[in-house]
Amino acid sequence: MTTAVPFPRLFAPLDLGFTRLKNRILMGSMHTMLEEMPGGFEKMAAYFGERAAGGVGMIITGGIAPNDVGLPTPGLAKLSTPEEAAQHRIVTERVHAIAPDCKICMQILHVGRYAYHPNLVAPSPIRARISPCVPNELTEEQIWEQIHDFVNCARLAKEAGYDGVEVIGSAGYLISEFLVTHTNKRTDGWGGSYENRMRFPLEIISRIRQAVGPDFILVYRIAAMELLDNGSSWDEVVTLAKAIEKAGATIISTHFTWHEARVPTLATMVPRAAFTGVTARLRKELKIPVITSNRINMPDVAEQVLADGRADIVSMARPMLADPEFANKARENRVDEINTCIACNQACLDHAFSGKLTTCLVNPRACYETELNFLPVKIAKKIAVVGAGPAGMAFAVNAAGRGHQVTLFDSAGEIGGQFNVAKRIPGKEEFSETLRYFRKQIELTGVNLQLNHRVSAPELIAGTFDEIVLATGVTPRTPDIKGIEHPMVIGYLDAILGRKPVGRKVAIIGAGGIGFDVAELISHKGVSSGVSLQVFAREWGVDFDNHPRGGVAGVEPHVEKADREIWLLQRKNTPVGAGLGRTTGWTHKILLERRDVRMLNGVEYQRIDDEGLHITLGGQPQTLPVDTIIVCAGQEPLRELQDALVAANQNVHLIGGADVAAELDAKRAINQASWLAAAI
Ligand code: FAD
Ligand code: NAP
Ligand code: SF4
Repeated sequence: MTTAVPFPRLFAPLDLGFTRLKNRILMGSMHTMLEEMPGGFEKMAAYFGERAAGGVGMIITGGIAPNDVGLPTPGLAKLSTPEEAAQHRIVTERVHAIAPDCKICMQILHVGRYAYHPNLVAPSPIRARISPCVPNELTEEQIWEQIHDFVNCARLAKEAGYDGVEVIGSAGYLISEFLVTHTNKRTDGWGGSYENRMRFPLEIISRIRQAVGPDFILVYRIAAMELLDNGSSWDEVVTLAKAIEKAGATIISTHFTWHEARVPTLATMVPRAAFTGVTARLRKELKIPVITSNRINMPDVAEQVLADGRADIVSMARPMLADPEFANKARENRVDEINTCIACNQACLDHAFSGKLTTCLVNPRACYETELNFLPVKIAKKIAVVGAGPAGMAFAVNAAGRGHQVTLFDSAGEIGGQFNVAKRIPGKEEFSETLRYFRKQIELTGVNLQLNHRVSAPELIAGTFDEIVLATGVTPRTPDIKGIEHPMVIGYLDAILGRKPVGRKVAIIGAGGIGFDVAELISHKGVSSGVSLQVFAREWGVDFDNHPRGGVAGVEPHVEKADREIWLLQRKNTPVGAGLGRTTGWTHKILLERRDVRMLNGVEYQRIDDEGLHITLGGQPQTLPVDTIIVCAGQEPLRELQDALVAANQNVHLIGGADVAAELDAKRAINQASWLAAAI
């Protein structure tokens, strides 16, 4: 008897006429910076090869520029010569060798006015809010040159062995700049009427089709909702999509937002599958298959999207960083083994936008496939791990997975360490998935888990372990402020875990990640946007039902005001929130501002007494008349076991917060733990 496929729609093949996708799972495009590294194509071959082996139906590579002016910065990846095409063969041949039924398409990306070099071009010389340079206005001749370069790039991609290309016509890059009037002020045949404005993508698509022939996948990524007041109307989106279909596209991929929009589309606070309703509406207008994307991170969500007829293919980009075996695990009904993308952006988009190699907070092997490997051990060691936070869990499962005999102790009654605190913050619901993943891996790898077990140095010494790994985390810092022992002062753990009451007028000392999270928690009313599309739409001013221009024109964001007065304080003179994640920090700050949380920098703490918190600000004394002060002033390492163990000649290793508490986050904790597990 054969077992039914657990996600029948996700694993139904899709016939494209000249070829077939084996399933509906697409690995979406992400620029990783492997493209530009020495030996990068070999590394990319390993990176994509693992995803192909993991069962994905189709892969779209990171964006490759068709010419020099289309590069984001000089020196990044471009495909305009046969020599460059030859390098891409390393990738396409590896993917096809590993999984002949996996398709791989190359994304052609011309960034237009988002480029960081003096030769940037655009339909009109209008600088983007997020860019330093005014673009050079394209002449008629130069427009034709760009079209030619797109076509040449697609032709070379075919020569390089790709199964197709994706042309990105969204996100505020060159093509999308032609489509909307605030970036296209031209009065010639490329501007003015919508017919003229959409000529640029249509010329590109129809000429690529002519050049590559009928049996080559041609995906067009359309700006289905720009999330800008002056974005496209729904009629314009439909008109363009139909024209692109007619011009020869095989598939239309729906994309949301421009980089300069002020609505989050990828962060944890965005509910799962939030934008699939927009794809559904467009799909009804077209005959060719349609791809949806954004915040689809588990197979049941993807299956539901397909079951509802919202799309034909589901794109998952970050989930493939988090778990290259996502598709196989879904097909084999091993969903609880999936290492789920928690939409933190900390190691992927934050890295990409800072010029660093992309990787993944929950999977540090992403983009390090040739360097970080957990090979079976020849001699199994007996290893104790103290602390089952992110560092301890990551070390334990990877070391045990290699064959070591691992005992994992935690004084708490559950695994997870601070992640059990973090998951209580509205918008961080996804953190529970990481705990579920580790729980399952602990079971599968045979880690001996000892909960409710505060382990002591004598016990560890008596246990005759070959190696002892201290992953005991951190202890909150108590700042040296006069009156800090006042009963109105509580720690962030007391506040988040509800162990002590929080009053109506609250000062938060410390505006790092945890200060912001505490401000979010105590200023938040009702359901989290992370689990409610209605709340998300209301808080960010998106009208999914009526789709006004850009999805947002004329819609005011409405955030429930906090029912308490809150001050978020820091001593540094830098803007409050400047140290938060590059691609998510602004969303946290906007939400708190909309709830009237007062953010003060350059604060000097004087004293605490019954009147409240006395500070000086710009040299002026002030009293904040608060009834609660929550301390979020960072942490110190907790490694009380270390000295006794070292004195007893034990082999001791420190990881995570126990090693260095400053600037610790789960990304560093898991990464450090994984490298140690691979080496020990
Ligand atoms: P911990 O998570 O602190 O784990 C240490 C473990 O050791 C604990 O479970 C403890 O019980 C155990 N332990 C200690 N001593 C003993 C002993 N003697 N015997 C047995 N067990 C012991 N990071 C991010 O990257 N992104 C975020 O968005 C994020 N948000 C956060 C939000 C909040 C509210 C908080 C509190 C933290 C957040 N963090 C975030 C930080 C992240 O959780 C920490 O960096 C991470 O948990 C550190 O991992 P760790 O394993 O070093 O330590
Ligand atoms: P943090 O980011 O180091 O911030 C600590 C804050 O306390 C800073 O604002 C600091 O600013 C202040 N401070 C430090 N020493 C102080 C003192 N002696 N007296 C008064 N104020 C003091 O640490 P955290 O907020 O506790 O976060 C811990 C880690 O968890 C961080 O590294 C963070 O990356 C991670 N985390 C990440 C996220 C995320 O969303 N990515 C969310 C939560 C936590 P001043 O010195 O200027 O006052
Ligand atoms: Fe997802 Fe965070 Fe990993 Fe990026 S770093 S892929 S957002 S879990």
